[in-house]
Amino acid sequence: MSETDFDIVVLGGGSGGYAAALRASQLGFTVALIEKDKLGGTCLHRGCIPTKALLHSAEVADVSRESAKYGVKTTFEGIDLAAVTAYREGIVSSKFKGLEGLIKARKITVIRGEGKLVAPKTVRVGDDLYTGKSMILATGSYSRTLPGLEIGGRVITSETALALDYIPKKVAILGGGVIGVEFASVWKSFGAEVSIIEALPHLVPNEEESISKQFERAYRKRGIEFSLGIRFQSVTQNDEGVVVTLENGATVEADLLLVAVGRGPSTAGLGFEEAGITIDRGFVITNDRLETNIPGVYAVGDIVPGLQLAHRGFQQGIFVAEEIGGLKPQVVEDVNIPKVTYSEPEVASVGYTEAKAVAKFGADKVSAYDYNLAGNGKSHILGTSGVVKVVRVNDGPVVGIHMIGARVGELIGEGQLIVNWEAYPEDVASLVHAHPTQNEALGEAHMALAGKPLHAM
Ligand SMILES: Cc1cc2nc3c(=O)[nH]c(=O)nc-3n(C[C@H](O)[C@H](O)[C@H](O)COP(=O)(O)OP(=O)(O)OC[C@H]3O[C@@H](n4cnc5c(N)ncnc54)[C@H](O)[C@@H]3O)c2cc1C
Repeated sequence: MSETDFDIVVLGGGSGGYAAALRASQLGFTVALIEKDKLGGTCLHRGCIPTKALLHSAEVADVSRESAKYGVKTTFEGIDLAAVTAYREGIVSSKFKGLEGLIKARKITVIRGEGKLVAPKTVRVGDDLYTGKSMILATGSYSRTLPGLEIGGRVITSETALALDYIPKKVAILGGGVIGVEFASVWKSFGAEVSIIEALPHLVPNEEESISKQFERAYRKRGIEFSLGIRFQSVTQNDEGVVVTLENGATVEADLLLVAVGRGPSTAGLGFEEAGITIDRGFVITNDRLETNIPGVYAVGDIVPGLQLAHRGFQQGIFVAEEIGGLKPQVVEDVNIPKVTYSEPEVASVGYTEAKAVAKFGADKVSAYDYNLAGNGKSHILGTSGVVKVVRVNDGPVVGIHMIGARVGELIGEGQLIVNWEAYPEDVASLVHAHPTQNEALGEAHMALAGKPLHAM
């Protein structure tokens, strides 16, 4: 057995853990980064990057089917899934190589193997112990299922869905949140029939309600089936396919059932509780500075209750490294973290929904404006429809931005600056947006809220 001491030990090399390690090494700390699988974690290997590559292939399929509309003659011959996979894997492996190079260049000590806490700041990997003056827990998450719903065979999670070497003819998807609707979008564009089952009243149910409704209209128009407000009851499977039964007795037959009902924290059996760390339903409980109940032990990423997003993990990792470095970084509340659903159409948002803003500030203190993308030249050129909705406090800042339409995910960068810098619509209205861009829609919405609409009433 060998024992090694570091300033900081990071358990888990996904978005949260590797961001913490990179920033800590910049600040001059010695860092051990313990990873049992591949650096980059869920996001790089099984999440954000491969799914967005798939969605891009799906977009290319849609564009080639519709190319005659733009005066371009092409023949859509079909999807070569092996080539789609090669393209997707090429991107993942190139990003992975880049990340490994970066970690090496920053002189971070990578420990390969499964780690377990044996004391609050000591991790055992095999026979070796690694102790930090500070400890950062970043073990990430796994695909959850429902009680009694067993994963296996034709009942799959997103990980198996990504690895499929064929395009199913018909897929049922349990869960109309971000992962469910993104796979629905891909499979529909690849030619499958898709049926989503969502227990809540809307698809993308965490978004502004008016945006969710528009999203449902867009999916209906694409021929994606869904049932809302009805719970899943059971599923049976055989060699032919699956039969999903809902609690109202309705059934959905398909080749596969994708279970996309959320992600649970990967903390079981890792010694966290035995080390005295407070855990609630598997999540690691921290204060708003991401410190657990044990001083010097921090947690970042999907194991911390709240939004499970890669960029939240990056931000939390950087935050904790700076906190340990005494830099007193600023807390970013979850509500101010941008969210994007990369389906066709895309949904992007940051800040409060109108309803939440009204609940927080009062009905007479909040105004909202919906700018329809029909008035935006670039959106018209791209053949997309949608809305940019901006929510403000009267005589106060913008507190929410909600968008739907092709490519609106690229607009949320400006949106999160506006909300996080607490800009007033009047501040944004006087700035210039290039023409013709979709960003102009944001400009127009702010002009309207500032009382001086240009291309709107
Ligand atoms: C299909 C899908 C699509 C997604 N798309 C997006 C997206 O577009 N945008 C976005 O922002 N987010 C997306 N996410 C979410 C994003 O992937 C996660 O929020 C992010 O990966 C969380 O980072 P993390 O560091 O907390 O955990 P992870 O990335 O899960 O990393 C945890 C790491 O810890 C390692 N580990 C765990 N236990 C141990 C142990 N005992 N010893 C050693 N190593 C250990 C794991 O191997 C893993 O590498 C998606 C997720 C999925 C599943």
